[in-house]
Amino acid sequence: MNGTRNCARPLKCRLCWRRFKYSACMNDHMRLDHKDTIMLLVQLRQAQRRAKEQLAFRQKVAEIIAASVEAKDAVKEPVRVSVIRQNPVDV
Ligand SMILES: [Zn+2]
Repeated sequence: MNGTRNCARPLKCRLCWRRFKYSACMNDHMRLDHKDTIMLLVQLRQAQRRAKEQLAFRQKVAEIIAASVEAKDAVKEPVRVSVIRQNPVDV
């Protein structure tokens, strides 16, 4: 009678599909049998988060650089305008 046995154990391990009756039992099984896998998953998640943080940091730096370049251009322009005399003296 597989059906009744499955009903008695409603929980399923996501990593090896073993069935469990109590979530505490499943958690114990996960901790003991899938320690390495969980460690890898945790490390992967941390690496992803770090990569995301680095990307955000790089974008911020790029924004700051772009802003400083814009600021430099803004400084250059009035200099150029002052070189080209808009109101010549001899008129
Ligand atoms: Zn398992």
